[in-house]
Parts: sequence; structure tokens; C-alpha cells
Amino acid sequence: DVTVELVDVVREYRIGGQSVRALDGVGLTLAAGEFVSIVGPSGAGKSTLLHLLGALDRPDSGSIRFRGTEISGLDDGAQAEFRLRQVGFVFQFFNLIPTMSAWGNVAVPRLLAGQRLGQAKADALTLLDRVGLAARAEHRPSELSGGQMQRVAVARALIMDPVLVLADEPTGNLDSATGASVLELLADVAHEPGRGRTVVMVTHDQDAAESTDRVIGLRDGTVGEDRAAVAVGGPR
Ligand code: ADP
Ligand code: ADP
Repeated sequence: DVTVELVDVVREYRIGGQSVRALDGVGLTLAAGEFVSIVGPSGAGKSTLLHLLGALDRPDSGSIRFRGTEISGLDDGAQAEFRLRQVGFVFQFFNLIPTMSAWGNVAVPRLLAGQRLGQAKADALTLLDRVGLAARAEHRPSELSGGQMQRVAVARALIMDPVLVLADEPTGNLDSATGASVLELLADVAHEPGRGRTVVMVTHDQDAAESTDRVIGLRDGTVGEDRAAVAVGGPR
């Protein structure tokens, strides 16, 4: 089951007379059930690739097909709809709304989609239970640990039942034990039987990358390596 297919994707930034090829002919196929990490030095194009996968940006040329449908040419409204319905986002600094409870934060995408609060709350509570936070549903972000905040963010990323989950340095602000438990949660999200989700994570952490299924290394806007991960702690 192919989730996303990129063919010869180019993204160029122009500043004044200068232009920078952030992505220079990227081809990739990401399958359902895969937990993929994107690695590479600063400036290699990781953020640009994640933005294109999430329809936060458009390529200058090339094709991005999502379950067979070309998304690169969608207008702004269609892109926003695509992001809301099909993509879940997880960030380094969680991006939770400080004045809302954990369940309220998880429910936000459903409210944006026009759903009634009661049903959204019920589903948010179910997801919080699944990420181990049933007892924290009424807490605000400031009353939660970093790992708990990131679990709330993962629950929020899942509430629309997306096919693609994009995580930008999700362990970058967590200690290693807490980070490892968030990585396990993301692996479960990708591997959940019968769901067919793809999880793509940008990371600078070598151990985190090797804990996924597949490591894609970017270099100067091209795919330098694309290989199976090598589990550091041996087989799990
Ligand atoms: P990361 O540390 O995640 O790789 P970067 O520092 O590369 O992030 O970029 C942070 C943000 O700034 C991104 O949204 C990126 O698109 C933007 N950005 C990166 N380089 C430039 C630049 N030369 N000019 C303007 N914006 C940039
Ligand atoms: P990474 O995430 O791997 O650090 P980026 O995708 O942020 O890489 O950046 C790739 C290249 O594109 C870098 O040379 C960066 O400076 C440039 N770049 C990224 N975003 C912008 C932007 N908004 N405007 C101009 N240049 C940018």
C-alpha cells in the first residue's frame, strides 16, 4: 500500500537574485505501516521535505501523489482540507494550547472540522487513554511533563484518523528515556494492524533514527542513502 510517492521533486527558494535548491530531484515511495526517519546535516532539505509531504508548501516541479492523487497542485483551501483530514503533525515543542485541557487540545482538529463538542470529547478521551494519559485528561499542558505533553500531541495528531503522521524532532526536547517511550508510541502508530499509517520523523538523533524501520539520509537536497534501520539495542 503506497501512501506517498514523490517523483523528481524540486523546491527552490529565491531570495533577491540568488536561488537555493533546497530539494534537487527527490524520488521516494513511502508505504503504509512504515516508520521512516529523515536525517542529514543542517540545510540538507529535511524541513522542506516535511513541509511538502504535509502540503504546507508546493514543489516547483515534480510530482507528489498521495494515495494516487496528485496533491502538489491543490489550491490553498484544498491543501488546508488535506492537512486537516489526512495528516497529523507532531512538533519538537509540542505546540499545545496552554489554556486548554489535555482533552481539549486533542479535540481541536475535530472542532475545526465542525464536529460537535460531545463526540469530539468522547473520542479525545479514548485516545488519551490509548496514550496512557486517561488520568490527565483535565490537566493543562503546564501541569504535564514533557513526555506527557508529547503524548497529548500524538493523540491530537491521531484524532482525525490520518494516513500520514509527520513528526519534526519529536524527541528533541525530551530526555532519552522519555524520548524512547515517545518513539515506541510512534512505532505503534505506524505498525497498528489494519490501520496502514505512515509515520515520517525528522531527527538529528542517530539512536532515534535507528529505532525506526527505515532511514533516509538527505544531502544537499538529494537522497544520499535510503536503507533499513539498524536497531542499536539489537532486535526487539
Ligand atoms: P531545522 O533546524 O529544523 O532544520 P532550520 O533552521 O533549517 O530548521 O529552519 C527553520 C525555519 O526557517 C524553517 O521553517 C525554514 O524553512 C526556515 N529557513 C531556513 N533557512 C532559511 C533561509 N535561508 N531563509 C529564510 N528562511 C529559512
Ligand atoms: P534542513 O531542515 O535539513 O536543515 P531546510 O529544508 O530547512 O534544511 O533547508 C534547505 C535549504 O533551503 C537550506 O539551504 C536553507 O537555507 C534553504 N531554505 C529553507 N527554507 C528557506 C526559505 N524559507 N527561504 C529561503 N531559503 C530557505
